[in-house]
Amino acid sequence: MKNRTLLMIPGPIEFEPAVLAALGAPTTSHLAPNFIEAFGQALERLRELFLAPDGQPFVIAGTGTLAMDSAGANLVEPGDRALVINTGYFGDRFGALLERYGAQVHHLRAPVGGRPALDEVEAALRGGAYKLLTVTHVDTSTGVRTDVKALAALARAYGALCVVDGVCSVAGEELHMSEWGVDVALTASQKAVGVPPGLALLVAGPRALQAYQARKTPVANFYADWGNWLSVMQAYEARKPAYFGTPAVNLIFALNASLEIILKEGLEARLARHRALGRACRAGLAALGLGQVPLSDELAANTMSAPRFPPGVNGPAFLAEAAKAGVTLAGGLHPAIRAEYFRIGHMGSAGLGDILATLGAVEAALEACGHAFTPGAGVAAARTAWRGA
Ligand SMILES: *Cc1c(COP(=O)(O)O)cnc(C)c1O
Repeated sequence: MKNRTLLMIPGPIEFEPAVLAALGAPTTSHLAPNFIEAFGQALERLRELFLAPDGQPFVIAGTGTLAMDSAGANLVEPGDRALVINTGYFGDRFGALLERYGAQVHHLRAPVGGRPALDEVEAALRGGAYKLLTVTHVDTSTGVRTDVKALAALARAYGALCVVDGVCSVAGEELHMSEWGVDVALTASQKAVGVPPGLALLVAGPRALQAYQARKTPVANFYADWGNWLSVMQAYEARKPAYFGTPAVNLIFALNASLEIILKEGLEARLARHRALGRACRAGLAALGLGQVPLSDELAANTMSAPRFPPGVNGPAFLAEAAKAGVTLAGGLHPAIRAEYFRIGHMGSAGLGDILATLGAVEAALEACGHAFTPGAGVAAARTAWRGA
């Protein structure tokens, strides 16, 4: 392949050949037996991926934002109170969409790169009578990971539904949906799930479905209304066709192919690989003298990194040089620090070779931008960190 570049951004990512082949296969009818089987299997496999044996998966054409929108539309009634654990850009987005459905939203924020402390969350819940608590598992604008297990336990203790935006975490970070008491977990196809953009993936737990059924007002979003999709999902899982909106046939074949690969690797092995990816990437960046947006290593995600530019390095020039060295990286996203940092996605099928190539490109770009460092130090540190715990 000529002019091939390595795509190392926090979604879309590099995709497996079997997934791309499924996407490029001739499109069948959404009523064809082989599609019914693939869709049914994908729904079963999503339940395994989310570790949600009692959850109801929804697969709907759209992006991760549609999955967020669907959680908000179906769970919020005008006047409901919602607490947003806000660790960046996607917390702001969740709050904005909940307000659109009439929620009274309270944002619990931390300084950029941090996350609200659990006792602050508990104090807010104690005083709030919240129906809903939303958490961004990994906020892609900061690379900060939240403690979903502890937050879900607090939400449950105070009678709030716990909704997890796992768009940058599911299939790359630990998430035990049922065991942890998470009521809704959602993601999008193009991140660690490893399928080109176009599918919103959401699993609703029993309490979330009960809250939906207990609504007194209609869902203010026709397309996202779970009532329109529930019977369709149940039908396909029972290997029967059903229709509300035409399923994204090829994307669903691709999703099923990717879920097969994910479950074949095994969730434990996959998470261990992502921990090694995160560790190696951070060690390599540190060896080159780069700081990171997360305020401490324990807060840093395994699916992506958010390194700060060293003083004097121009962001756009750096990214252009990295691309020249064969690796596509992402710029900043958080409005308060947008020009001060860049982002590296290391999720899905990524391995040590991808991290080494990325750090090699980072070194080339730093050199071109006049930053002084020991050549090869990033790559060497990453190799050592990959091996060690
Ligand atoms: C990417 C992302 C989204 C938005 O997903 P889209 O598919 O771009 O709509 C939401 N939340 C998080 C944490 C993300 O990383």
